[in-house]
Amino acid sequence: MSSYTICMKTKSVKVGDVVIGGGFPIAIQTMWKSPLSNKIDDILVKIDELKDIGTDILRFAVPDLESAEILGKISKKSHIPLVADIHFDYKIALKCIEGGVHKIRINPGNIGASWKVEEVVKAARENSIPIRVGVNGGSLPSALRDRTDLAFAMLEAAEMELNIFEKFNFKEVVFSLKSSDIKNTIMANKLFSEKYSYPLHLGLTEAGPLIPGTVKSSIALNTMIVDNIGDTIRVSLSDSMKNEVFAAREILKASGKESTGVDIVSCPRCGRASFNTHDFLVDIESDLQKIKQNISIAVMGCIVNGPGEARHADLGITGSGENIVIFRKGKIVRKGKPGNAVEMFIEELNKF
Ligand code: SF4
Repeated sequence: MSSYTICMKTKSVKVGDVVIGGGFPIAIQTMWKSPLSNKIDDILVKIDELKDIGTDILRFAVPDLESAEILGKISKKSHIPLVADIHFDYKIALKCIEGGVHKIRINPGNIGASWKVEEVVKAARENSIPIRVGVNGGSLPSALRDRTDLAFAMLEAAEMELNIFEKFNFKEVVFSLKSSDIKNTIMANKLFSEKYSYPLHLGLTEAGPLIPGTVKSSIALNTMIVDNIGDTIRVSLSDSMKNEVFAAREILKASGKESTGVDIVSCPRCGRASFNTHDFLVDIESDLQKIKQNISIAVMGCIVNGPGEARHADLGITGSGENIVIFRKGKIVRKGKPGNAVEMFIEELNKF
């Protein structure tokens, strides 16, 4: 049992129409992976695709005023709230807020003079948007950089930033305390939760490529989530935004925090397989991720275990000799050739 006293319910802040904290569902975030371009319609199409697979909030790096201008235009048309990630220059933050972004991420410590931070806080307050402070174990303020007790140093860094906001009596703040180290990330967030009720954005920073990054993030985030720590998450991968969102959804499902969506049983394949379950799953992946209902799917390779598993799922498919057979709620509804499996299966899926 944990020896910490955890704040069970954080205060809530609104990011567009998404609420972070206060016991609301944990919001899934990802971050745009390329520089902002003027191809606004293309970006909006991609944002909608991310929304369809479960992205609640999307963050953009905003390194200059030109990018801030573009993000403002996108924010006005986006169907999910957008966050501007800004370092060093308070004017970029002001431009983003004026443009209509739904949240900004800054660290007051790297914005410089107090009056500059005050300007940003004033604009955020006037526009009713929150600010996230992101403490990163790899880039702590110089006074804390040599500390060997990293988790405590991360907490102190967060408190230094918090003091600045408290001076301006600004409470719409979300914190993140991230490191690439699992233990220190968990410890820093637990220490913070013990003392404060500000909502927490969880993540393991620079977690790595798809598989190692997902495994490490799962261990770190699950440990905190099951202790009721965390109000929004991002899985930080050297991989696509879609895979970050898929990983985040699976972590929430496995932690018992998201009960909707598809539960998949699938065969790993062996020498008996007459149906290529791996390729089939890749082909239907994005259709599955759009499903909001709670349904079970079985994708099986042969008649050894296939009919049994497929029959028990809401929708199941199995290889059967040279054919495939589709079951719906235990009854055979379709038979055909593997080449038509994707089309037939998606037709059945769309009936849910
Ligand atoms: Fe092998 Fe068939 Fe089991 Fe898949 S379902 S692992 S093909 S025995």
